[in-house]
Amino acid sequence: MRCPVCDGALQDVLIRDLGGITADITWQLHAGRCGEHGWFQTEVVSRPPREIFAVTRPFGAARRIVVDGREHFSFSTSWNDLPLQERRQNVDPLEATYWQTKPVSS
Ligand SMILES: [Zn+2]
Repeated sequence: MRCPVCDGALQDVLIRDLGGITADITWQLHAGRCGEHGWFQTEVVSRPPREIFAVTRPFGAARRIVVDGREHFSFSTSWNDLPLQERRQNVDPLEATYWQTKPVSS
C-alpha cells in the first residue's frame, strides 16, 4: 500500500488476518503509516479494496485529512474505477496496481 497523498511507500505496515468463513476467502485489514501524512487503512475481502481510508492509528477511527485546502476522508483506488464487468474477474486481491489511488492534488 502506498500513501494516497504523496504516493510514498508506507512504513510500519500491519496486516491483520480476519479469517474467512471458508478457507478460500482472503479477509485482511491492511494499515500503514506515511511519515508525513499519517496512518492509512483498508480492508481486503477477496477483492482489491475500492477505497483507502485515513485513520488516526492502525485499526483506529477514520479521520479527515486536508490536501490543498480540500478535505479527504477516503481515496478511491483504480479497482474502484474498473467497469463492473472487469471487477467480476478473479484477480489477486493484493495486486498493487489495483490499489493505486488517484493523485489528490492538482
Ligand atoms: Zn504521504
